[in-house]
Amino acid sequence: GPLPARQADQAPPQLSFEFFPPRTEALEQQLWACIRRLAPLRPRFVSVTYGAGGSTHARTHATVSRLAAETDLVPAAHLTCVGATREEVDAVARGYREAGVRHIVALRGDAPGGGAYAPHPGGYDYACDLVAGLRRIGDFEISVAAYPETHPAARSPEDDLDNLRRKLDAGATRAITQYFFDTATYLRFLDRCLAAGITAPIVPGIMPVSNYAQAARFSAMCGTAVPAWLGHLFEGTEEDPEIRRIVASIVAAEQVRTLQANGVDEFHFYTLNRPDLTYAIAHILGVRPATASGAA
Ligand code: FAD
Repeated sequence: GPLPARQADQAPPQLSFEFFPPRTEALEQQLWACIRRLAPLRPRFVSVTYGAGGSTHARTHATVSRLAAETDLVPAAHLTCVGATREEVDAVARGYREAGVRHIVALRGDAPGGGAYAPHPGGYDYACDLVAGLRRIGDFEISVAAYPETHPAARSPEDDLDNLRRKLDAGATRAITQYFFDTATYLRFLDRCLAAGITAPIVPGIMPVSNYAQAARFSAMCGTAVPAWLGHLFEGTEEDPEIRRIVASIVAAEQVRTLQANGVDEFHFYTLNRPDLTYAIAHILGVRPATASGAA
């Protein structure tokens, strides 16, 4: 049947927004316009990614520092294990602390060039080791990644779930999922987590897709299934960005409303530094801008 509209007495969900650190002056302008647009929605936190192999270290640091210094937003910095010694990673974490950042999204990262991952000889081997290391440095709030469709390199779905549990046992308090299009798969994953005794929030990562071709390419790399119906919906819109955006809004709105109807009350948005789709979907979820303060 049709999805129920959000009830007037139902609390709006908690949101978080993910950005990537800008590489050029133009992208920097775009990012800050995006942040200003989304800030009044009072996200629980906003996170800034760490480029492959730590390649964006300086830019991630600059972005989270500016968020901490110039806005009311709570910044979270992503940090990875790949290609660095424990001492180097610890130094980055301490730098974040000194900049006023108290929340870290702790990740393994991927091998540069797309090959098989191998731990750095003097580094943190896996994300669970990084979480334990961060715990020794200070009282960070720590989020980690979860994979409703199983991480592509995992030996089995059970093994991957054990890995998630290790990260939470090591001190992470929240998981954010890889994005997914098949909502039923995510809901089944929540059931599997609960059955495994995992009680931390498993926040769905929402990717509002407006460039289908690009999303399909990217999904192949990160193990996200692209259902046939999704390709079908975007078919024929290649030359029509206006229609593509409307279709994209509807796809994402249906997804979050299905999740909300199933009791999900926290969402993480992969904004790609573009505010409009995220803002519209947040609106549909019942999130309204703060009237008085909260803006960047
Ligand atoms: P882990 O939790 O360490 O797990 C990786 C794999 O190793 C899993 O298959 C696990 O089952 C397996 N494993 C764990 N321990 C062992 C062991 N002892 N022996 C053998 N196998 C083991 N990447 C970036 O570079 N920068 C980012 O900013 C970034 N942000 C992200 C944000 C989110 C929300 C998500 C979902 C992903 C992000 N990624 C980012 C991508 C991430 O780095 C990759 O998905 C990476 O392949 C796995 O990272 P992880 O932290 O999940 O790894």
